[in-house]
Amino acid sequence: MPLPDAETGRFVRERAGNRCEYCLVQQRYYPDFAFHIEHIVAKQHGGSDDIDNLALACHQTDQLTRLFNPRADVWDEQFRPDEDGHIVGLTAIGRTTAYVLGMNADVRIRIRQEILRLAED
Ligand SMILES: [Zn+2]
Repeated sequence: MPLPDAETGRFVRERAGNRCEYCLVQQRYYPDFAFHIEHIVAKQHGGSDDIDNLALACHQTDQLTRLFNPRADVWDEQFRPDEDGHIVGLTAIGRTTAYVLGMNADVRIRIRQEILRLAED
């Protein structure tokens, strides 16, 4: 999507706690690129520019249809993190979202493993 105005962008980032609202990894673990503001329901599928339809994401999701909706779905009902850094989809929505967004790509698993290791200290 085109960048929202600065105030909207700041609001969405703060509301998300600077975490990707899909895989919950914080922006600071991806120093090389800025997470972007996505339409949860893509504009081409009737989604609006309202802040309730915007989410902070580390993925390109605009082209997708019904996946996990961070505003309407409860994360813990759709996903479960395992001890090895994977995100396990618990439902069709969770499994499809995890697969389509590549939530268990090697680099993402390595980052989550590092987060889990730091949490143990
Ligand atoms: Zn993400």
